[in-house]
Amino acid sequence: MTDKIITMSIFDLLEAGPGPSSSHTIAPMKAGFDFSERVKTLSEKILNNAKGVRVRLYGSLSATGKGHGTDRAVIIGLMGNKPSTCPPTLLNDFLNIPKEQKFIDLRVKKLPLDLENIEHSSVSHNFPYSNTLIIELLSEEYLASRATSKDFQNSILFSWEYYSVGGGFLQWKGYTEPKNIMPAHPYRNMTELKNQLKIKKLSLEKLLLENETSISGLSEEEIKAKLDKIIYIMKDTVNRGINTEGVLPGPIGLKRKAKRLKECADALQTIDQYLCLLDSYAYAVAEENAAGNTIVTAPTCGAAGVIPAVLMILEEHFHLDIVAQRSGLLAAAAIGFIAKNNASIAGAEVGCQGEIGVATAMAAAMIVQAEGYSPKVVENAAEIALEHQLGLTCDPVGGYVQIPCIERNAIGAVKACNAALIAENENPNTHIVSFDTTVKAMREIGRDMNRKFKETALGGLAICMTYC
Ligand code: SF4
Repeated sequence: MTDKIITMSIFDLLEAGPGPSSSHTIAPMKAGFDFSERVKTLSEKILNNAKGVRVRLYGSLSATGKGHGTDRAVIIGLMGNKPSTCPPTLLNDFLNIPKEQKFIDLRVKKLPLDLENIEHSSVSHNFPYSNTLIIELLSEEYLASRATSKDFQNSILFSWEYYSVGGGFLQWKGYTEPKNIMPAHPYRNMTELKNQLKIKKLSLEKLLLENETSISGLSEEEIKAKLDKIIYIMKDTVNRGINTEGVLPGPIGLKRKAKRLKECADALQTIDQYLCLLDSYAYAVAEENAAGNTIVTAPTCGAAGVIPAVLMILEEHFHLDIVAQRSGLLAAAAIGFIAKNNASIAGAEVGCQGEIGVATAMAAAMIVQAEGYSPKVVENAAEIALEHQLGLTCDPVGGYVQIPCIERNAIGAVKACNAALIAENENPNTHIVSFDTTVKAMREIGRDMNRKFKETALGGLAICMTYC
């Protein structure tokens, strides 16, 4: 068990930004932006001597970075854009951006940027995190050194080693956790969270709001307003997706299906309608993500469709208002925190169980909390949902977040509803497996999982399915 208290903000876990991958798109864009800020602090002498920028991608970023838009994301970050504020279609429009607008601003001059600044380096390496990228500022001698194949180590003026650690979170060599203010009600896992609820005699919603206040400094009203905005963006993404047709970017030629599924659902009368609606909403967000448009990481880009699909159903099918939806989203965040703190939410570290698996658990907890059940039932729903996603591998075909990812969001949304139903209809005290146990199992399975199944596109469907 980790000894780390959860000090993460809800708005770092649920963050709006461009798809298709939190670890391969959002974090690399953050790295590019961070580098663009760091170089501005260098001396004029160094900056005047700078001639070029090189980005080296390692591990899964190298293996599947092209399909995930990592190359474009880093360049867009180096151009001074952050995921939270970059225009929704910038990633897709990258190739149409005029050359003169692609540059890094070094304060004393501007250096041109383009995809040739990216180097896809080795997939196997000894860096502490699979998703590693190194960004370098190179001197005047750089071009000459490269032309003569000399080792141009000396021509590196400034270099920063970044790690994309999952869910859009970024660290770097020598990184130390910011000295976060301790939450009002510290916990590391579900057992401690339940203890805090018991000792402090608080509702789950109240405890999570008070913790967020102490971590972010926001008032409860401000937190609620931000949660409502997240819910709005999630639903907006669903609405965009169910009204869009066409083919997704990349060589697979995958056609969008959300609109057709929604039309089919509207024509159905039975229980099938409910399932088909869930499918269409999950597809809608996952397709928007695959297109590189704005989504909310929940907990990642690849798994961004599960929670919005369930939110739509909570509103339309269960007629739960925004207060209940917000309360549900808080419970979902707690599940995401615990999974990240004690295992991982990165496909590159533990496979898809950490992405769609955790999203399914978060969505199941959200339903149960929104419907007013006790924390024990919330825990059980999350546990059931995650338990039946254990072992799920990450094997995106061609390195694109499309197959199996899009369909997997729909399956995850349906599974979340079923897990919630089971938890709500059993005697909660007879439920044997705890959420902490299942998270531990996920961590162990992830540790033993072959690297081929951790977002490298070197195993499973990624090699068995052929396309052209
Ligand atoms: S298979 Fe799962 S973990 Fe891998 S890219 Fe797709 S959604 Fe993410």
